[in-house]
Amino acid sequence: MKRQLIVLSAPSGAGKTTVARHLLETFPFLRFSVSATTRDRRESEIHGKDYFFLTREEFKERIENGDLIEYEEIFGNYYGTLRSVVKDAISHGDFIVFDVDVKGALSLRHEFPDDTVLIFIAPPDMQTLSERLHHRHTETNAQIALRLARAEMEMGHEKSFDYVIVNGNLSETLSKAEEIVRFNAEGSPEQQELF
Ligand code: 5GP
Repeated sequence: MKRQLIVLSAPSGAGKTTVARHLLETFPFLRFSVSATTRDRRESEIHGKDYFFLTREEFKERIENGDLIEYEEIFGNYYGTLRSVVKDAISHGDFIVFDVDVKGALSLRHEFPDDTVLIFIAPPDMQTLSERLHHRHTETNAQIALRLARAEMEMGHEKSFDYVIVNGNLSETLSKAEEIVRFNAEGSPEQQELF
C-alpha cells in the first residue's frame, strides 16, 4: 500500500532539513508541506517556500478557523501544519514530506493512520548534536541549551516511529531515506538490504 505522507522528525541539529531537501530534489513527485510559524524568518528563508511566517494574531486566527491539522508551541513560537496543503495533496494523489517535531509527527499519524510513514532522524549521540548546533551558528547559546533539553524528550519517542535512521554518515542517511521513500511510493524490494 502506498503511504503518501512522509513525516520526518528529529531533534534540532540532527540533519532533518538536509534529508528533507535531498528527498525533494531526488523525487519529483514529492512536495513539501510548508508549515505556518510565528518564528522570525532566517535570512535564507523564503515566505511560502520554507514557512508561512505569521504574526501570533494571524496564527491564532488560523487555529480558531480550524485551518491547522496540528500545531505546537516550540521554543516560544507556534508551528503548525496547514490542513489545505495536506488535503490538496491527498486529493491529487501526491506525496508530501513533512518536517515537524515529534508531537506533530504523532498527531499526523493519529489523524491519517494509514497514510503516514514516520521517520526519525537521530543524532549519533548528544555530544555530536551539541557540536552541530554550535557549528551552524543560527542560535544563541541559550537557544542551543533549550534545543538540547528538548532533544532528550524527543529521543524518548523514537520507538513510536516506523523507521529510525542514526545520522552518523550523511550519505548513508540520505540513501536510507531514499530507500524508504522508494519502498513506500513504489514498493521497492530492495529495502531489506538496508534495514
Ligand atoms: P525550526 O525553527 O528549526 O525551523 O523548527 C523548530 C522545530 O519545529 C523543528 O523540530 C521542526 O521540525 C518543527 N516544526 C516545523 N514545522 C512544524 C509544524 O508544522 N508542526 C510541528 N508540530 N512542528 C513543526
